[in-house]
Amino acid sequence: MIIGAGSVGIEFASIFSRFGTDVTVVEMLPRILPLEDPEISQEMQKLLTKQRIKFHTQAKLEELKIKDEKVEALIADGNGETHKILAEKSSDSCRRRPVTDEIGLDKLGVETTRGFISVDKNMQTNIPGIFAIGDVVPTQALAHVAFT
Ligand SMILES: Cc1cc2nc3c(=O)[nH]c(=O)nc-3n(C[C@H](O)[C@H](O)[C@H](O)COP(=O)(O)OP(=O)(O)OC[C@H]3O[C@@H](n4cnc5c(N)ncnc54)[C@H](O)[C@@H]3O)c2cc1C
Repeated sequence: MIIGAGSVGIEFASIFSRFGTDVTVVEMLPRILPLEDPEISQEMQKLLTKQRIKFHTQAKLEELKIKDEKVEALIADGNGETHKILAEKSSDSCRRRPVTDEIGLDKLGVETTRGFISVDKNMQTNIPGIFAIGDVVPTQALAHVAFT
């Protein structure tokens, strides 16, 4: 079971499905790949459904627990009804966050907001001479954004 049908979730759903795993994707929003054009979402879902991936859109994960070494997920659909999904493993593809809390930024006085390092237009932090780039700053978490 993959939680989150953004680019990372769909990438992994496709990979595991091609390895022969039965994959179920759970997405809170009405369509997969919600940042893409609706036509892309629709065509991708058709294509991946042919590849035997199951989709639950407008399905909010309410609870996740391990029972008898299996994952048991409770999801609420758009009508507020709750369904149970059982899976061998689950992957959370929607909660990437910067891991900056234990690297001593506080000792240096570097400002962060919800873990993201605050920078100016030159990527300099509030401490002169200390710069930050990549997913730790509040820009789009993409490789080409990380190094530009
Ligand atoms: C599954 C997936 C698919 C993606 N696909 C795309 C894509 O198709 N196109 C795209 O543009 N972007 C993609 N991204 C996003 C892209 O990978 C990131 O935006 C990019 O890697 C950010 O670069 P970074 O250098 O900030 O961080 P990272 O590439 O994550 O590099 C940080 C490195 O620092 C190491 N590290 C962390 N903490 C410490 C520490 N305390 N001490 C020492 N080392 C540490 C980590 O182990 C890691 O190797 C994808 C991301 C994921 C997760």
